[in-house]
Amino acid sequence: DVLINQIAAGEVIERPASALKEILENSIDAGATEITVQIMQGGLNLIRVTDNGKGISGIDMPLALARHATSKISAQEDLHKIASLGFRGEALASIGAVSRLLLTSYQSGDKHAWHIQAEGGQVTCPEPTARGVGTTLEVRDLFFNLPARRKFLKTETTEFAHCEEVFRRIALSHAHIAFNLQHNNKTRNHLYAVDTLQRITAVLGKEFSQSAVLVSEQANDISLQGMVALPTYSRSARDLQYFFVNGRYVRDKLISHALREAYRDVLHLDRHPAFVLYLQINPQNVDVNVHPTKAEVRFRDARAIHQFVFHSINKVLASPHR
Ligand code: ADP
Ligand code: MG
Repeated sequence: DVLINQIAAGEVIERPASALKEILENSIDAGATEITVQIMQGGLNLIRVTDNGKGISGIDMPLALARHATSKISAQEDLHKIASLGFRGEALASIGAVSRLLLTSYQSGDKHAWHIQAEGGQVTCPEPTARGVGTTLEVRDLFFNLPARRKFLKTETTEFAHCEEVFRRIALSHAHIAFNLQHNNKTRNHLYAVDTLQRITAVLGKEFSQSAVLVSEQANDISLQGMVALPTYSRSARDLQYFFVNGRYVRDKLISHALREAYRDVLHLDRHPAFVLYLQINPQNVDVNVHPTKAEVRFRDARAIHQFVFHSINKVLASPHR
């Protein structure tokens, strides 16, 4: 079981940032309104996430670190499928298999808080401790027991940049949650609970929102909100393309293509504009689970989405009031 967890974790936990993403998503699932992320040495040394969510009860703690889907993996070839299946209910087990993990949590109703540890997949029994309602998850020494994996990690700066990118995507899609990001004991980002447009400015900076146009378009059962940068925005847009479908960050060539087309059409410029766009669509018309860890998406009618995005952006760019 320990070995299976290590293999599974190696497949899906690629680097500190992938662990951070899973941990942050758990805090959000737990209803947290305040989340603090403390990272040491790009996450190679420590990732600590503290939330004020509903917490985990002492009874549920061992389960939280256990692999729920062991029965799904029987044959050798199944190991290859893990990555594509994603790991529903397996993130913490996988992280705990390749790090020294400490989970501390208090759920109201319990007499007191509990903590539990996992080291290279060996899970301890929960022990009593003290803390307010919520959860703190610490991940130390990622891949300490997989030296070959650890060797593939990049410099502290690069690994932190990946963590910061994960943080930005989550912060951009959860404006109502307050976030704090620290690296090597220095605050890098302090975000108050605000509305989405204010959050975009807080995350990407005033320069972005001042040189961007607002998008707010609605059709039958689809809507597009957000901001698209105008050519006056100086920064290269390659890494500033944020697209969320029903609140989830997704990477999609279709959307960048639609934006580029609209830019060319209206402004006669061949560019990849920077943008933050939130598409709301009937969940039946999109499959976000194509690859749960890789932010891919499959639209039922990709053409219609492309058209809607293209026309929306076209209209906004061509508006005399922009
Ligand atoms: P999944 O999120 O798919 O259920 P995970 O391995 O990510 O699987 O988490 C396992 C379980 O641990 C969750 O289902 C949840 O019950 C609990 N859990 C993890 N993190 C938190 C948290 N921050 N607050 C409350 N419960 C948590
Ligand atoms: Mg999870």
